[in-house]
Amino acid sequence: MKITEHIAKAKGETLFSFEVIPPVKGKSIQELYDNIDPLMEFKPPFIDVTTSREEYVYIEKDGLLDKRKTRMRPGTVGICASLQHKYKIDTVPHLLCGGFTKEETEYVLVDCHYLGIENVMALRGDAMKGEPYFEPTEGGHRYAQGLVQQIADLCGGHYLHETVVSGDCADFCIGVAGYPEKHLEAPSLSTDLKRLKEKVDAGAHYVVTQMFFDNAKYFAFVDAARAMGIDIPIIPGIKPLAVKRHLNLLPQVFSLDLPQDLVDAVEACKDNRAVRQVGVEWAVEQSRELREAGVPVLHYYSMGKSDNIEQIARALF
Ligand code: FAD
Repeated sequence: MKITEHIAKAKGETLFSFEVIPPVKGKSIQELYDNIDPLMEFKPPFIDVTTSREEYVYIEKDGLLDKRKTRMRPGTVGICASLQHKYKIDTVPHLLCGGFTKEETEYVLVDCHYLGIENVMALRGDAMKGEPYFEPTEGGHRYAQGLVQQIADLCGGHYLHETVVSGDCADFCIGVAGYPEKHLEAPSLSTDLKRLKEKVDAGAHYVVTQMFFDNAKYFAFVDAARAMGIDIPIIPGIKPLAVKRHLNLLPQVFSLDLPQDLVDAVEACKDNRAVRQVGVEWAVEQSRELREAGVPVLHYYSMGKSDNIEQIARALF
Protein backbone atom coordinates (compact mmCIF):
# COMPACT_ATOMS: atom_id res chain seq x y z
CA MET A 1 0.00 0.00 0.00
CA LYS A 2 1.16 3.56 -0.67
CA ILE A 3 2.28 5.85 2.17
CA THR A 4 -0.39 8.35 1.15
CA GLU A 5 -3.01 5.58 1.40
CA HIS A 6 -1.78 4.63 4.88
CA ILE A 7 -2.15 8.28 5.91
CA ALA A 8 -5.63 8.54 4.43
CA LYS A 9 -6.68 5.26 6.08
CA ALA A 10 -5.48 6.50 9.51
CA LYS A 11 -8.13 9.27 9.34
CA GLY A 12 -6.11 11.85 11.26
CA GLU A 13 -4.48 9.46 13.73
CA THR A 14 -0.70 9.89 13.86
CA LEU A 15 1.22 6.85 12.61
CA PHE A 16 4.60 5.54 13.79
CA SER A 17 7.41 4.72 11.36
CA PHE A 18 11.18 4.56 11.31
CA GLU A 19 14.25 4.26 9.14
CA VAL A 20 16.89 1.54 9.23
CA ILE A 21 20.38 1.27 7.78
CA PRO A 22 21.55 -1.86 5.90
CA PRO A 23 24.26 -3.85 7.68
CA VAL A 24 27.88 -3.42 6.68
CA LYS A 25 28.57 -5.97 3.96
CA GLY A 26 29.57 -9.34 5.31
CA LYS A 27 27.49 -8.83 8.49
CA SER A 28 24.32 -10.81 9.14
CA ILE A 29 20.88 -9.35 8.47
CA GLN A 30 19.83 -10.93 11.80
CA GLU A 31 21.17 -7.90 13.71
CA LEU A 32 18.78 -5.73 11.71
CA TYR A 33 15.85 -8.03 12.50
CA ASP A 34 16.85 -7.97 16.19
CA ASN A 35 16.57 -4.18 16.14
CA ILE A 36 13.28 -4.15 14.25
CA ASP A 37 11.53 -6.93 16.22
CA PRO A 38 10.88 -4.86 19.40
CA LEU A 39 9.41 -2.02 17.31
CA MET A 40 6.81 -4.15 15.55
CA GLU A 41 4.38 -4.03 18.48
CA PHE A 42 3.87 -0.31 17.71
CA LYS A 43 2.49 -1.29 14.30
CA PRO A 44 4.54 0.78 11.87
CA PRO A 45 2.76 0.75 8.50
CA PHE A 46 6.11 1.19 6.75
CA ILE A 47 9.87 1.10 7.30
CA ASP A 48 12.41 3.12 5.31
CA VAL A 49 15.72 1.54 4.30
CA THR A 50 18.57 3.93 3.53
CA THR A 51 21.09 3.69 0.70
CA SER A 52 24.69 4.55 1.42
CA ARG A 53 26.93 6.57 -0.86
CA GLU A 54 30.04 4.86 -2.16
CA GLU A 55 33.31 5.41 -0.32
CA TYR A 56 36.92 5.33 -1.39
CA VAL A 57 38.99 2.37 -0.23
CA TYR A 58 42.67 1.82 -0.79
CA ILE A 59 43.82 -1.63 -1.90
CA GLU A 60 47.51 -2.45 -1.68
CA LYS A 61 48.85 -3.89 -4.92
CA ASP A 62 52.55 -4.42 -5.77
CA GLY A 63 53.57 -1.96 -3.05
CA LEU A 64 51.22 0.72 -4.39
CA LEU A 65 47.84 1.86 -3.10
CA ASP A 66 45.00 1.50 -5.57
CA LYS A 67 42.08 3.91 -4.91
CA ARG A 68 38.69 2.29 -5.56
CA LYS A 69 35.05 3.10 -4.91
CA THR A 70 32.85 0.74 -2.96
CA ARG A 71 29.48 0.78 -1.22
CA MET A 72 29.94 -0.43 2.38
CA ARG A 73 26.25 -1.04 3.06
CA PRO A 74 24.70 -2.43 -0.10
CA GLY A 75 21.46 -4.38 -0.31
CA THR A 76 18.74 -1.72 0.17
CA VAL A 77 16.19 -3.23 -2.21
CA GLY A 78 16.94 -6.79 -1.08
CA ILE A 79 16.43 -5.76 2.54
CA CYS A 80 13.15 -4.03 1.63
CA ALA A 81 11.91 -7.22 -0.03
CA SER A 82 12.97 -9.35 2.93
CA LEU A 83 11.27 -7.00 5.45
CA GLN A 84 8.06 -6.96 3.41
CA HIS A 85 8.13 -10.74 3.35
CA LYS A 86 9.04 -11.21 7.03
CA TYR A 87 6.85 -8.55 8.67
CA LYS A 88 4.10 -8.14 6.03
CA ILE A 89 4.47 -4.37 6.02
CA ASP A 90 5.42 -1.82 3.38
CA THR A 91 9.00 -0.71 2.91
CA VAL A 92 10.50 2.38 1.32
CA PRO A 93 13.89 2.00 -0.35
CA HIS A 94 15.88 5.22 -0.59
CA LEU A 95 17.07 5.85 -4.15
CA LEU A 96 20.01 8.16 -4.73
CA CYS A 97 21.21 10.22 -7.67
CA GLY A 98 24.81 9.94 -6.43
CA GLY A 99 26.56 6.79 -7.61
CA PHE A 100 23.83 5.67 -10.03
CA THR A 101 23.35 6.23 -13.73
CA LYS A 102 19.79 6.78 -14.96
CA GLU A 103 19.99 3.34 -16.56
CA GLU A 104 20.89 1.69 -13.23
CA THR A 105 18.07 3.61 -11.54
CA GLU A 106 15.64 2.27 -14.11
CA TYR A 107 16.74 -1.31 -13.34
CA VAL A 108 16.28 -0.71 -9.59
CA LEU A 109 12.78 0.64 -10.22
CA VAL A 110 11.91 -2.39 -12.33
CA ASP A 111 13.19 -4.65 -9.51
CA CYS A 112 11.07 -2.72 -6.98
CA HIS A 113 7.98 -3.09 -9.14
CA TYR A 114 8.45 -6.86 -9.53
CA LEU A 115 9.05 -7.18 -5.77
CA GLY A 116 5.78 -5.43 -4.91
CA ILE A 117 7.50 -2.36 -3.45
CA GLU A 118 5.08 0.54 -4.01
CA ASN A 119 6.94 3.40 -2.33
CA VAL A 120 10.33 4.96 -2.98
CA MET A 121 12.16 7.92 -1.50
CA ALA A 122 13.95 10.01 -4.16
CA LEU A 123 17.11 11.70 -2.89
CA ARG A 124 20.20 13.29 -4.31
CA GLY A 125 22.64 11.87 -1.77
CA ASP A 126 25.47 13.71 -0.08
CA ALA A 127 28.96 14.38 -1.33
CA MET A 128 31.22 11.34 -1.03
CA LYS A 129 33.25 11.19 2.16
CA GLY A 130 36.38 13.27 1.72
CA GLU A 131 34.92 15.29 -1.17
CA PRO A 132 33.82 18.89 -0.56
CA TYR A 133 30.89 18.95 -3.01
CA PHE A 134 28.36 16.58 -4.48
CA GLU A 135 29.56 15.46 -7.91
CA PRO A 136 26.84 14.01 -10.12
CA THR A 137 27.61 10.59 -11.53
CA GLU A 138 28.21 10.54 -15.27
CA GLY A 139 24.89 9.58 -16.83
CA GLY A 140 23.06 10.20 -13.54
CA HIS A 141 20.96 13.01 -12.09
CA ARG A 142 22.37 16.21 -10.58
CA TYR A 143 19.32 16.94 -8.40
CA ALA A 144 16.60 14.86 -6.79
CA GLN A 145 14.04 16.64 -8.98
CA GLY A 146 15.43 14.79 -12.04
CA LEU A 147 15.14 11.49 -10.21
CA VAL A 148 11.52 12.24 -9.22
CA GLN A 149 10.80 13.05 -12.87
CA GLN A 150 12.36 9.77 -14.03
CA ILE A 151 10.26 7.78 -11.57
CA ALA A 152 7.08 9.64 -12.53
CA ASP A 153 7.85 9.09 -16.24
CA LEU A 154 8.41 5.38 -15.69
CA CYS A 155 5.06 5.18 -13.91
CA GLY A 156 3.54 6.64 -17.09
CA GLY A 157 5.24 3.91 -19.14
CA HIS A 158 8.01 6.23 -20.36
CA TYR A 159 11.25 4.29 -19.92
CA LEU A 160 14.59 5.83 -20.85
CA HIS A 161 14.71 4.48 -24.38
CA GLU A 162 11.12 3.66 -25.19
CA THR A 163 7.53 4.18 -24.19
CA VAL A 164 5.79 0.97 -23.22
CA VAL A 165 2.03 0.77 -23.40
CA SER A 166 1.02 -2.01 -21.03
CA GLY A 167 -1.50 -2.83 -18.35
CA ASP A 168 1.27 -3.38 -15.80
CA CYS A 169 2.82 0.02 -15.25
CA ALA A 170 4.54 0.66 -11.94
CA ASP A 171 2.71 3.21 -9.81
CA PHE A 172 5.15 4.36 -7.15
CA CYS A 173 4.30 6.68 -4.31
CA ILE A 174 7.30 9.05 -4.26
CA GLY A 175 8.75 10.65 -1.13
CA VAL A 176 11.26 13.52 -1.13
CA ALA A 177 13.38 15.28 1.50
CA GLY A 178 12.52 18.67 3.03
CA TYR A 179 14.63 20.82 5.32
CA PRO A 180 12.96 22.90 8.07
CA GLU A 181 16.30 24.67 8.67
CA LYS A 182 17.16 24.69 4.92
CA HIS A 183 19.54 22.34 3.14
CA LEU A 184 23.14 23.20 3.99
CA GLU A 185 23.99 24.14 0.39
CA ALA A 186 20.89 26.27 -0.23
CA PRO A 187 21.46 30.04 -0.20
CA SER A 188 18.20 30.64 1.71
CA LEU A 189 15.21 28.77 3.09
CA SER A 190 12.98 30.41 0.53
CA THR A 191 15.18 29.21 -2.38
CA ASP A 192 15.26 25.74 -0.87
CA LEU A 193 11.45 25.74 -0.64
CA LYS A 194 11.23 26.66 -4.33
CA ARG A 195 13.39 23.59 -5.05
CA LEU A 196 11.07 21.51 -2.93
CA LYS A 197 8.10 22.81 -4.92
CA GLU A 198 9.90 21.74 -8.12
CA LYS A 199 10.18 18.20 -6.73
CA VAL A 200 6.48 18.24 -5.90
CA ASP A 201 5.60 19.53 -9.37
CA ALA A 202 7.74 16.74 -10.86
CA GLY A 203 5.58 14.14 -9.11
CA ALA A 204 6.47 13.78 -5.41
CA HIS A 205 3.58 12.60 -3.22
CA TYR A 206 4.93 13.31 0.28
CA VAL A 207 7.84 14.94 2.08
CA VAL A 208 9.92 13.61 4.99
CA THR A 209 11.88 16.27 6.83
CA GLN A 210 15.45 16.32 7.94
CA MET A 211 15.79 15.99 11.72
CA PHE A 212 15.09 19.09 13.80
CA PHE A 213 15.07 19.62 17.57
CA ASP A 214 12.88 22.70 17.78
CA ASN A 215 9.28 22.11 16.69
CA ALA A 216 8.81 25.81 15.93
CA LYS A 217 11.15 25.30 12.95
CA TYR A 218 8.96 22.49 11.60
CA PHE A 219 5.71 24.44 12.06
CA ALA A 220 7.16 27.51 10.30
CA PHE A 221 8.45 25.30 7.48
CA VAL A 222 5.04 23.69 6.96
CA ASP A 223 3.35 27.12 6.94
CA ALA A 224 5.84 28.43 4.35
CA ALA A 225 5.44 25.30 2.22
CA ARG A 226 1.64 25.58 2.30
CA ALA A 227 1.86 29.28 1.36
CA MET A 228 3.89 28.21 -1.66
CA GLY A 229 1.23 25.73 -2.77
CA ILE A 230 2.89 22.55 -1.46
CA ASP A 231 -0.14 20.63 -0.27
CA ILE A 232 1.19 17.07 0.13
CA PRO A 233 1.82 15.47 3.57
CA ILE A 234 4.97 16.74 5.33
CA ILE A 235 6.17 14.03 7.71
CA PRO A 236 8.47 15.17 10.54
CA GLY A 237 11.73 13.22 10.91
CA ILE A 238 12.84 12.87 14.54
CA LYS A 239 16.23 11.79 15.77
CA PRO A 240 16.85 11.22 19.46
CA LEU A 241 20.21 12.64 20.38
CA ALA A 242 22.33 9.72 21.64
CA VAL A 243 25.91 10.74 22.44
CA LYS A 244 27.60 13.92 23.64
CA ARG A 245 29.51 14.16 20.36
CA HIS A 246 26.17 14.90 18.61
CA LEU A 247 26.25 18.41 20.10
CA ASN A 248 28.97 19.33 17.61
CA LEU A 249 28.43 16.75 14.93
CA LEU A 250 24.73 17.31 14.10
CA PRO A 251 24.93 21.09 13.59
CA GLN A 252 28.05 20.60 11.48
CA VAL A 253 26.74 17.78 9.28
CA PHE A 254 23.09 18.86 8.96
CA SER A 255 23.39 22.61 9.39
CA LEU A 256 20.83 22.77 12.19
CA ASP A 257 20.48 24.56 15.52
CA LEU A 258 20.14 22.78 18.84
CA PRO A 259 17.92 24.50 21.44
CA GLN A 260 19.88 25.83 24.42
CA ASP A 261 17.83 23.81 26.94
CA LEU A 262 18.80 20.61 25.14
CA VAL A 263 22.47 21.61 24.93
CA ASP A 264 22.51 22.44 28.66
CA ALA A 265 20.84 19.14 29.58
CA VAL A 266 23.32 17.13 27.50
CA GLU A 267 26.33 19.03 28.80
CA ALA A 268 25.24 18.26 32.36
CA CYS A 269 25.27 14.49 31.65
CA LYS A 270 27.99 12.40 33.27
CA ASP A 271 28.13 9.79 30.50
CA ASN A 272 26.55 8.80 27.19
CA ARG A 273 24.02 6.60 28.96
CA ALA A 274 22.61 9.72 30.55
CA VAL A 275 22.78 11.56 27.20
CA ARG A 276 20.76 8.79 25.56
CA GLN A 277 18.07 9.26 28.23
CA VAL A 278 17.99 13.03 27.71
CA GLY A 279 17.68 12.38 23.96
CA VAL A 280 14.72 10.06 24.53
CA GLU A 281 12.93 12.53 26.82
CA TRP A 282 13.44 15.41 24.39
CA ALA A 283 12.16 13.30 21.46
CA VAL A 284 9.09 12.23 23.48
CA GLU A 285 8.23 15.87 24.26
CA GLN A 286 8.78 16.89 20.65
CA SER A 287 6.65 14.00 19.41
CA ARG A 288 3.79 14.77 21.83
CA GLU A 289 3.55 18.35 20.60
CA LEU A 290 3.77 17.29 16.95
CA ARG A 291 1.07 14.68 17.44
CA GLU A 292 -1.19 17.23 19.13
CA ALA A 293 -0.67 19.45 16.09
CA GLY A 294 -1.97 16.57 13.94
CA VAL A 295 1.11 15.45 12.01
CA PRO A 296 0.32 12.41 9.82
CA VAL A 297 3.31 10.28 10.85
CA LEU A 298 6.13 10.49 13.40
CA HIS A 299 9.14 9.10 11.56
CA TYR A 300 12.25 8.20 13.58
CA TYR A 301 15.86 7.95 12.50
CA SER A 302 17.10 4.84 14.26
CA MET A 303 20.75 4.90 13.12
CA GLY A 304 21.28 1.22 13.89
CA LYS A 305 20.37 0.58 17.53
CA SER A 306 16.65 0.83 18.27
CA ASP A 307 16.41 0.69 22.10
CA ASN A 308 15.84 4.47 22.32
CA ILE A 309 13.18 4.41 19.56
CA GLU A 310 11.45 1.62 21.47
CA GLN A 311 11.41 3.76 24.64
CA ILE A 312 9.96 6.70 22.71
CA ALA A 313 7.33 4.57 21.00
CA ARG A 314 6.34 3.02 24.33
CA ALA A 315 5.71 6.48 25.76
CA LEU A 316 3.57 7.52 22.80
CA PHE A 317 1.89 4.69 20.90
P1 FAD B 1 18.01 18.06 -3.78
O1 FAD B 1 16.53 18.15 -3.59
O2 FAD B 1 18.52 17.71 -5.10
O3 FAD B 1 18.66 19.33 -3.18
C1 FAD B 1 20.07 19.41 -2.97
C2 FAD B 1 20.50 20.87 -2.97
O4 FAD B 1 20.43 21.39 -4.30
C3 FAD B 1 19.63 21.80 -2.12
O5 FAD B 1 20.48 22.77 -1.56
C4 FAD B 1 18.67 22.42 -3.11
O6 FAD B 1 18.21 23.69 -2.68
C5 FAD B 1 19.55 22.51 -4.36
N1 FAD B 1 18.82 22.39 -5.62
C6 FAD B 1 17.84 21.52 -5.93
N2 FAD B 1 17.47 21.67 -7.21
C7 FAD B 1 18.25 22.66 -7.73
C8 FAD B 1 18.36 23.28 -9.01
N3 FAD B 1 17.57 22.93 -10.03
N4 FAD B 1 19.29 24.26 -9.20
C9 FAD B 1 20.10 24.63 -8.15
N5 FAD B 1 20.03 24.09 -6.92
C10 FAD B 1 19.12 23.12 -6.72
N6 FAD B 1 21.39 10.46 2.02
C11 FAD B 1 21.89 9.27 1.64
O7 FAD B 1 23.04 9.21 1.14
N7 FAD B 1 21.18 8.10 1.79
C12 FAD B 1 19.92 8.10 2.29
O8 FAD B 1 19.30 7.03 2.41
C13 FAD B 1 19.35 9.34 2.72
N8 FAD B 1 18.11 9.40 3.27
C14 FAD B 1 17.58 10.62 3.61
C15 FAD B 1 16.26 10.69 4.12
C16 FAD B 1 15.72 11.92 4.48
C17 FAD B 1 14.31 11.98 5.02
C18 FAD B 1 16.48 13.11 4.36
C19 FAD B 1 15.92 14.43 4.77
C20 FAD B 1 17.78 13.05 3.86
C21 FAD B 1 18.33 11.83 3.47
N9 FAD B 1 19.63 11.73 2.94
C22 FAD B 1 20.14 10.53 2.55
C23 FAD B 1 20.46 12.93 2.82
C24 FAD B 1 20.31 13.64 1.44
O9 FAD B 1 20.79 12.79 0.43
C25 FAD B 1 21.11 14.91 1.52
O10 FAD B 1 20.52 15.82 2.41
C26 FAD B 1 21.46 15.57 0.19
O11 FAD B 1 22.52 16.50 0.41
C27 FAD B 1 20.32 16.33 -0.47
O12 FAD B 1 19.36 15.48 -0.95
P2 FAD B 1 17.99 16.04 -1.58
O13 FAD B 1 17.27 14.89 -2.11
O14 FAD B 1 17.31 16.94 -0.63
O15 FAD B 1 18.59 16.90 -2.80
